[in-house]
Amino acid sequence: MSAALTAESLGLDSPAAMVQTDVLIIGAGLAGLSTALALPKSLNITILSKAALEICSSHYAQGGIAASLDKEDSVADHITDTLIAGAGLCNANNTSSILSAGQQAVQWLCEQGVPFTQIPQEDNTKPFTELQTELQTADLHLTKEGGHGCRRVAHADDATGRHIMEALTIKAKNAANITILPYHEALSLLTDSANTNKQCQGAQVFDHNNQRQLTFYSRAVVLASGGMGQLFKRASAPNVCVGDGVMMAWQAGCRLANLEFIQFHPTGLAVADSSFLISEALRGEGGHLTCPQTGARFMLEIDERAELAPRDIVARAIAEQISNNGLGYVHLDVSHLPDQFLREHFPQIYQTLFNLGIDMTREPIPVAPTAHYSCGGVVTDANGVTDVAGLYAAGEVAYTGLHGANRLASNSLLECVVVGRNIAADLPRYLEALENLNHVTSYDHSDLLATAIWTAPTLKDIQAIKLPCSPTILFNLSHCDDTDIVTHDYAGKIVTELKVLMTAHMGITRSAGQLAQALLQIENWQQQLRCPKSHSTTISSKSDKTTLASLRYFQLARQLQLATLVIQSAYQRYESRGGHYRQDYPHLASTPRTSVIAPLSKLREADKTGSREGGIDWLLQPIIDDTEARVVNTVANI
Ligand SMILES: Cc1cc2nc3c(=O)[nH]c(=O)nc-3n(C[C@H](O)[C@H](O)[C@H](O)COP(=O)(O)OP(=O)(O)OC[C@H]3O[C@@H](n4cnc5c(N)ncnc54)[C@H](O)[C@@H]3O)c2cc1C
Repeated sequence: MSAALTAESLGLDSPAAMVQTDVLIIGAGLAGLSTALALPKSLNITILSKAALEICSSHYAQGGIAASLDKEDSVADHITDTLIAGAGLCNANNTSSILSAGQQAVQWLCEQGVPFTQIPQEDNTKPFTELQTELQTADLHLTKEGGHGCRRVAHADDATGRHIMEALTIKAKNAANITILPYHEALSLLTDSANTNKQCQGAQVFDHNNQRQLTFYSRAVVLASGGMGQLFKRASAPNVCVGDGVMMAWQAGCRLANLEFIQFHPTGLAVADSSFLISEALRGEGGHLTCPQTGARFMLEIDERAELAPRDIVARAIAEQISNNGLGYVHLDVSHLPDQFLREHFPQIYQTLFNLGIDMTREPIPVAPTAHYSCGGVVTDANGVTDVAGLYAAGEVAYTGLHGANRLASNSLLECVVVGRNIAADLPRYLEALENLNHVTSYDHSDLLATAIWTAPTLKDIQAIKLPCSPTILFNLSHCDDTDIVTHDYAGKIVTELKVLMTAHMGITRSAGQLAQALLQIENWQQQLRCPKSHSTTISSKSDKTTLASLRYFQLARQLQLATLVIQSAYQRYESRGGHYRQDYPHLASTPRTSVIAPLSKLREADKTGSREGGIDWLLQPIIDDTEARVVNTVANI
């Protein structure tokens, strides 16, 4: 199947179309495009993007991509810095495997045409195009960021993500075997229920262009759908990042790990509701964090690394300053650095601020922490292999254990490329084994073989997150009639309030009381979404208006459920570690443990065997049985 695919040839013109492709990639960010471009050209690949292609975190990344490239640096030093930032929760094997591939990954990006900033060349006589084709990692200018022991971050000015994505998107659009479909939102994954191994075989997808539901059948699926930053009010990620992939994978049979480790970037621009980020590289180049009233540098007293301490430490220090000064921001001051250097190295930040009336070469920048990165996600190994055969995951949706309790700056772009390329190397092996498997007729036999060709990742030192049941049945698309959906426009309002709730109760510091209150508030919202009437309808069978309203409800119900899983993970981690800081448990536990949520199917099995009370559905609210919290406050104080 190597012929070029177009929307028409995929059959998207016909109603309720079914689409066949070899590999379905859900997400067109760096993880998705790296995988697609590295897969063999003989495979027919379809990439879905929930919105326009440039709406993804990858496009917005500023600082750069970390790899041990300097001759004074070593992979061992990069690993050491990553493990220190990860505060005891990194998976050492995967960390070593991913970081060891750093140099090759950056070289691969050079070969794709990414215009990384170079060390000024003495020979300026070569034409620009010639310099580009000769680009080698040894030529790259490197910056230093927080937690890194040396200069290690390759960048393209201060808009690294945009330059990388523009280069890869051109390549993907020109590839005859790749079809990119913007505005196609995956709703759920298809698994083979006849087979106990439940191979992933595609996805149900909502086509926003034509407002209809499609079924994509594929031989393998790659989840590359990004993080969940938009569960929070101040967030750097774009609005497509609400954790869809995490929920689809959980529903399909994957474990989730360390969801409580949401990383807050210390320096989001604190002007109105701006989601613009002020890159860590500004601190790396000597920027100072100061108290707006006194002008004093406050990080000097908190950590010997001062402004270059790991992100969690800097973010907490800023949050504390803000809570004391009541201004909603602190200052990041770079005005002591040379004007020309700032304009040349940070053109995007300089111009964005200038347009807002802030000249960073002369005056300080107001900054505040912003939800930035999901360190946890779908459990995978360094090859992107998940718990479900045929389903790979890469990038921010995945948990490889590289980031532990706190991601080291600029390691995420690297992880997208390395794991994406690893998937591309492993996937043909899986497809070939699957082909052989299809010649075996007996299901029992095929199950055995399937296990042999797909080995789920192993995790050590885990803490299982308990999800107590509630008998409340919540919103289910198939149980709602048009009147319920159209007249009750809760979705937009509740999404906004959920973000405020998450920032206030699941933010940089947490406590049992705050978390339990948040769970109760979410339960209240879920009660409001309850649809008592039973009509057999599907998304695509309704009018356009109703279809969109149904979809919004579906998305909202999923976000509420995900918020619950995140909060439950935070609630049940009785310690402070990395990005997770509990006011009521300020110390480290003696043994670092990865918190793991079992796949939904396992919870259902437990229900059937009677080992759990009540029933569970994936849209049910599993709430902590915390009577104390209910007595203290029945409505969350947000
Ligand atoms: C402002 C900002 C600056 C950053 N700077 C850096 C940096 O300098 N260095 C670094 O290493 N990291 C940085 N990060 C983090 C890094 O950019 C991200 O972790 C990384 O780009 C994630 O890539 P991804 O491919 O996993 O996801 P994304 O790039 O977010 O792409 C997700 C894709 O999935 C699609 N999608 C989502 N849900 C669905 C669905 N249901 N159906 C279909 N498609 C779906 C989206 O449309 C999108 O195409 C930054 C992040 C932000 C937000």
